[in-house]
Amino acid sequence: MATTVTEKKLLVGGEWVETGEWIEVRSPYSGELVGRVAKGGAAEARRAIDAAEAAMSEPLPAHKRAEILVRVAGYLGRRHEEVAQTISAEAGKPLKAARVEASRAMSTFTMAAVEARKLTGETVPMDASQAGAGKLAFTLRQPIGIVGAISPFNFPLNLVAHKLAPALAAGCAVVLKPASQTPFSALLLAELETEAGLPPGWLNVVVGPASEIGDVLVEDERVRAITFTGSGEIGWKLAARAPRKRVKLELGNATPVIVEADADLEDAATRLAANAFSFAGQSCISVQRIYVQQDAYDELLSRFLPKVEALVVGDPADEATDVGPMIDEDARERVLAWVEEARAGGAQILTGGALDGDLLRPTVIAKARPELKVSCEEVFGPVCTVTAYDTLDAAIELANGTRYGLQAGIFTSSIKTALAAAQRLEFGGVTVNEAPTFRADQMPYGGVKDSGNTREGPAYSVREFTEDRLVVIEL
Ligand code: NAP
Repeated sequence: MATTVTEKKLLVGGEWVETGEWIEVRSPYSGELVGRVAKGGAAEARRAIDAAEAAMSEPLPAHKRAEILVRVAGYLGRRHEEVAQTISAEAGKPLKAARVEASRAMSTFTMAAVEARKLTGETVPMDASQAGAGKLAFTLRQPIGIVGAISPFNFPLNLVAHKLAPALAAGCAVVLKPASQTPFSALLLAELETEAGLPPGWLNVVVGPASEIGDVLVEDERVRAITFTGSGEIGWKLAARAPRKRVKLELGNATPVIVEADADLEDAATRLAANAFSFAGQSCISVQRIYVQQDAYDELLSRFLPKVEALVVGDPADEATDVGPMIDEDARERVLAWVEEARAGGAQILTGGALDGDLLRPTVIAKARPELKVSCEEVFGPVCTVTAYDTLDAAIELANGTRYGLQAGIFTSSIKTALAAAQRLEFGGVTVNEAPTFRADQMPYGGVKDSGNTREGPAYSVREFTEDRLVVIEL
């Protein structure tokens, strides 16, 4: 198994610092040591905020910010294989998926560079009211201030990119706390930003105990915005504890897909098999609940199940692997318990449901009642349910029947059905004839209900990291 990383320090105020303590990062697949990272805490987080404040006292012009962002995209391209190997080694993500993530991060930086160059306010039509007559007014988009960024393990590079790149585009310095299980992709990105000419203090990376570092980001008034991607349990508490900050949350989902009988069933089956189990289902928009119109149920299953069974389960470093390990044993045991709960609750395991060595085989469950965890909570593992429905109304009710609302999908050949579903599915995004796992990095991406309160994608994040300043001129 390839291990590309051995020992990394934290980045604070432009310096790579040791703390005397180390966190070991192990491969989720083999348990082998991937590397060690310096363990920071509240003291390093405070120093990082001091450094960010000092950096922002000398603003970087937009053209410099854009140049740095473009350079980082180029460096990611040049070191693409090393970046992909790093993601794969620490997250246990199959190499082919890790390569896609590395390419997507290039796109995130490229899009952010565009946003840096076109960051403008707007003119206000002052003579539209009597009060404003005789005046000219416009807004400037000012950086909001220091951004605290907290990222999850599952896209350790590109979800970090979705925070760092737009924050820099907006002119904000960042204190980043990556997931403790996957810090190396973030630290590699920090190296690339430094090499690209980012002056000291604009990006600081502190790895360590989450609640300790999180508390500093919440309590320090100089941190004006917190951008968090992870579980709702942690995210919503952070938001409640920081009512005077802009706390932007990208959280989980229990992703539904509706398959109408008039859909191209072969195409739907192919896309769903690939997107329910990629990275062992550990994507916030992994296909989890498949609702199939009764007339097409048997045919869809007959096309879908062989494709699921053909997925290669194994070592993420192997070029052929489609489905690797879950992030740790606790996660695997939780998902197995949910599968057992479904079995005990009368559901039928059509394939999988058991371990292959230490790896959970792709699992498809039929006849799962709506109140079972696999039907309404976020599984975040290689498991999906398949359920027949009679009418589109019933399918939409089932799809909407969770507390989540990130992305949903529908397969149909009817434009009328597609648009009706797009209007009625209570989600931040709806895909038509594509799995709802689809994301291109310029898209506005984010959820409603328990799934979050923001949209990422550089053009949208830049708005979150800036504030309007109004200028009024008497003529
Ligand atoms: P998580 O356990 O919530 O961790 C996310 C981040 O929060 C990690 O950096 C973690 O640090 C940190 N954290 C933990 N406790 C904290 C605290 N008290 N204060 C501040 N930070 C704290 O989530 P995960 O298991 O890494 O990721 C899986 C979840 O993320 C799933 O629910 C998934 O759906 C969601 N997700 C959402 C999106 C989206 O864009 N909507 C994308 C990807 C993932 P440690 O690692 O040190 O514990």
